[in-house]
Amino acid sequence: MTFTTTLQDWFIKNQRKLPFRLDKDPYRVWISEIMAQQTQIDTMIPYFERWMSKWPTIKSLFEASENDLLKAWEGLGYYTRVRNIHKAAQQLSQNNYIFPNTIDEIRALPGIGPYTAAAIASICFESKSVAIDGNVNRVVSRLFEFEDDFGSPSLLNKVTEKMEVWMSSATPSVFTQAMMELGALICTPKNPSCDQCPLKQNCLAFKNQSTLDFPKKKITKKKPELHKLILLMRHKDLLALTLDHQDSLMKGYWRFPEVKELPKESLYIGSHHHVFTHLIWDLDFYSVETEKSSEFQWFSAEEIEALPLITAHRVFFEKTKTRIFSSES
Ligand code: SF4
Repeated sequence: MTFTTTLQDWFIKNQRKLPFRLDKDPYRVWISEIMAQQTQIDTMIPYFERWMSKWPTIKSLFEASENDLLKAWEGLGYYTRVRNIHKAAQQLSQNNYIFPNTIDEIRALPGIGPYTAAAIASICFESKSVAIDGNVNRVVSRLFEFEDDFGSPSLLNKVTEKMEVWMSSATPSVFTQAMMELGALICTPKNPSCDQCPLKQNCLAFKNQSTLDFPKKKITKKKPELHKLILLMRHKDLLALTLDHQDSLMKGYWRFPEVKELPKESLYIGSHHHVFTHLIWDLDFYSVETEKSSEFQWFSAEEIEALPLITAHRVFFEKTKTRIFSSES
């Protein structure tokens, strides 16, 4: 059996039943692929199912408000993704809500990069386009013990070359998903299950017991850590919120105001340590009773529940809201 046939047969027998694999609907595959970027499948499935029950078609997505989409995305992070989905729906509305079926047209939609375009084109339209993400890079670099750094253009070139050869004799929808599934279930970053791997006879890293040496990793820099003072300004049962995003993070999401200096009468409520991929926030939260200034917008706890709020503040707010409203300052 060839490499491609072995892998495809394994996938057909072992694939998980995932809600976005029920059919080859490009809308569902598109949303699932965007949600799955940087997010574990188990975490994103409830988001995916809620999304599809609210917006089952591209037309309903086009008609949704950005605020509702941001709220539905809250907790998934990388919020530019959801804004791009909405922009893409606006573009698709010009084409009678029909999702394009060629890789070039798919790639032209906002927020769709080469990997996602190739994944949708191969899974939904049987295009022989190779979808290469971190999982695929890891699997192929182990199979051949490629010495190039993970994420480097030279590794991408080598992996692309191998993938194109395999894809030439493959059933694209099956092959693309099989590579994804192998990376997710078997050839995992820390403890690959080589004993269960259909490719172990072809794998140099398995033969040489060097699986954890591949892919080669660049030394990463320590994340910058920012300390911030967050002021929960309270007027009766209302709290001040702002859409200020001078730090360019999470545009469109509400947040509690950040201050450089605290008013004398403010009261310490607690702290929260929030880790992003590129930086860390150390947040100290204080509350203060104040007049209702027009610099901010004012909301009750129930209204805040329904608003898109940045996750770092949401997590703290949910833990402490009873205390915030009962504290005296
Ligand atoms: S044998 Fe092990 S290292 Fe090689 S592809 Fe399979 S799971 Fe990955």
